[in-house]
Amino acid sequence: MGSTRNAAATVLLASSLASAAGAQTTPALDVLHARLDKAAEAVMPKVVTWRRDLHAHPELGNQETRTSAFLAAELRRMGYEVTSGVARTGVVAVLRGGKPGPVVALRADMDGLPVTEETGLPFASNARGQYNGREVGVMHACGHDFHMSILLGAAEVLAGMKADLSGTVKIVFQPAEEGVPGEPGGAEVMVKEGVLENPKVDAMFGLHVGITPLEAGSITFRPKGLMAAGDTYRIVVKGRQTHGAMPWAGVDPIVVASQIVLGLQTIVSRQIDLTTAPAVVTVGTIEGGSRHNIVPDQVRMSGTIRTFDPEMRKEILARVKRTAEDIASAAGATAELILDEGYPATWNDSALTERMTPSLKRVAAGTFNPNAQPTTTSEDFSFYGQKVPALYFFLGVAPKGADPSAWAANHSPRFSPDEAALITGVRALASLAVDFLAGAGK
Ligand SMILES: [Zn+2]
Ligand SMILES: [Zn+2]
Repeated sequence: MGSTRNAAATVLLASSLASAAGAQTTPALDVLHARLDKAAEAVMPKVVTWRRDLHAHPELGNQETRTSAFLAAELRRMGYEVTSGVARTGVVAVLRGGKPGPVVALRADMDGLPVTEETGLPFASNARGQYNGREVGVMHACGHDFHMSILLGAAEVLAGMKADLSGTVKIVFQPAEEGVPGEPGGAEVMVKEGVLENPKVDAMFGLHVGITPLEAGSITFRPKGLMAAGDTYRIVVKGRQTHGAMPWAGVDPIVVASQIVLGLQTIVSRQIDLTTAPAVVTVGTIEGGSRHNIVPDQVRMSGTIRTFDPEMRKEILARVKRTAEDIASAAGATAELILDEGYPATWNDSALTERMTPSLKRVAAGTFNPNAQPTTTSEDFSFYGQKVPALYFFLGVAPKGADPSAWAANHSPRFSPDEAALITGVRALASLAVDFLAGAGK
């Protein structure tokens, strides 16, 4: 008995010596994960409260003043060095870990949409705003309230682990992701104002809720092009007005515009290599004429182009211009193309994506798919990915067992993500930061 007791005492002594030695170096990754998961559980009541408060008080792009003050106050309370007013209402916060190392940035977007909420939730928004000179209802219909509360939760978890972090965490709250007509804003302006510098960011992570009807806690992404580049174009076809009974006396822009619509559809189907990446050219509006018996002077058209490959994007934009101009010229008309370049493709750095896949796999609940299909929606997180290695992923928010065909998607007035996904989001962002700084998978 006595000797057994002595042996047990020796083992205890050895393990306490090991943990004392361990306290001077970075704890093992599984120890950090256990602490992270516990801290994430603990912060959840706050995350839910933040989410409902932000949901009830949405603000349109470039007008997120209440939201900005709310986020800055919480980050200061957590001990971050906070800079407000970046790209108008953006908030950037820095946490320097106890040991030197790289810089990791986590980003969430802050803006609501001109949508009148129809969820019937007790904390539904009654907010109103001005959009394009009109009064509109305002709602967090894209889930940016989820993104902000998840990132605040992750920020608090990381603040609690500050002493053990080898490097720096940069929290980026970005306004105007959805774009504001006629105004610069969002990620592009954040980058111009130096969000990726001082300290210089080595890797950046972000998430979007929904997009696909996957159940709460699911995580999906892919290397390379995840979300499309979205470019808007307008075409003005100019002919010559005449009597509808004597079309030969003028140049008919309606017939020319019709030929352009069909010509544009042959770019993707006949002229580019579809095995490289998918692409879409859509004509969304076509307006011309005032009366059944008048051939009008001009027709205006507009549409959107979605691409995943930067080279293919250039090629398609050039072909849209050429197709419109040459078809018009063949009829003796002119076509002017006005291109409004939108967000680039959201590009996941292949090496970073592979390296961080285990971090996301560890925290996913429900579906986990690191080779998901790309989506034709766009996202201005892409501007960060053009400058630094970045990884963007989707977080499922559909209630468990819900019928996918009845799902109200992002931008619907009935979009109502399941709060069960919040903890997965917090664990995911915090884990990406902790694992990246710890050099996991390197
Ligand atoms: Zn959106
Ligand atoms: Zn969004």
